[in-house]
Formats: sequence, C-alpha cells, structure tokens
Amino acid sequence: MARTPRATPDTRLPHVAQDLPQVAKVEAEAETPFWRKKLEDLTPSQWEQLCDGCGRCCLVKLEDEDTGKIHFTNVACTLFDATTCQCANYAQRSEKVSDCVTLTPEAVRSIKWLPPTCAYRLVAEERDLYWWHPLVSGSPDTVRAAGISVHGRVAASEDDVPFEQYPEFIVPWPGRIPKRAR
Ligand code: SF4
Ligand code: SF4
Repeated sequence: MARTPRATPDTRLPHVAQDLPQVAKVEAEAETPFWRKKLEDLTPSQWEQLCDGCGRCCLVKLEDEDTGKIHFTNVACTLFDATTCQCANYAQRSEKVSDCVTLTPEAVRSIKWLPPTCAYRLVAEERDLYWWHPLVSGSPDTVRAAGISVHGRVAASEDDVPFEQYPEFIVPWPGRIPKRAR
C-alpha cells in the first residue's frame, strides 16, 4: 500500500490542510473490516467467515398458501446437527438436501426468509454486524449468549415430524432479534 508523502518544510502548511484528509482516508481503508464491503467483493474465505453459525436458516419454514407469509418452525433440517449447530455434511449439502439453498449475493437479496440477524442479510442491507457476531466479538460463544443461536431450541429433526404436524412447531423467535442481542 502506498504511503502518503510527508510535506516538505516549505510546503508543510498548505499541505497539512490537503494531506490530512488523505491520510485519514488511507488509514480508514486499511482498517475497514471485510464485512463492510459489498457481498460481491468478498473472497470465498471471507464469505464463509461471514456466517455466524446461528443455524436459524436450517430450520424448516412453512409458507402460508393464502398470504405468502413465511413461518419458522423449531424443526431442523435432516442434516442439521443440533449439538454443534452445523450442517453434518456441508460439502455435499446440495446433493443430500435438494431444497438447501446455496447463498449467493443474488440469492441473499431475493430470499425473503433470511432471519433479520443473518450476517449476509445485514451486509446486503449495508448494515453493520452486531456485537455478538464472532467476527466482532472474537468468540463463537457470543452467538449463544445473545440468544441468536438455535442451540438448545431445536424441538425435532424433520425426519421425525409428519408433514401434517409441522404447524404445531411454528415459533416466532427465529424471525426476531432478542433485546440482549441489539
Ligand atoms: S442465518 Fe445466516 S448467519 Fe445464521 S447460519 Fe444461516 S447463513 Fe449463517
Ligand atoms: S443441508 Fe445443511 S446447510 Fe442445508 S439446510 Fe440442511 S443443515 Fe442447513
């Protein structure tokens, strides 16, 4: 990265006014966290790091045929490991679960059911990550502490719930932001 040249003594005063903003701009750019970039500008590694591991998107969702409204349930996808809150076969998730959606910048902007806390949604909406995101806090534990993780809140796997019983598992919390998470 280029460094802003220092002013020579005879030009120092005029340059101070002009150069200080440039110095500030260069430093600000150097310190800008990657999650304040556009989704399209993230590297594959940064893209993966952006996921907070909450598991909310891996809950089964129901769409009201009449209104189009999406309802979260506390039933998890067949591949979801409720202990680790991770996909049990992330590399082959698309082959194993046909309706598992691979997020892309376009998908993030068009999907209406991403939780309001989802980091991809926040970045797409040009908002900052919350204090509890591991990239901000430095620890994955804060996702649970803030009440964002689905850990301990998954009632069943979709393997164990007959389709007609899904409405009994509708819950509001995956679509909400707890007070302590704000
Ligand atoms: S809701 Fe978003 S941040 Fe949370 S696990 Fe899913 S993709 Fe990751
Ligand atoms: S296949 Fe894996 S990533 Fe996809 S919804 Fe299921 S648990 Fe989540």
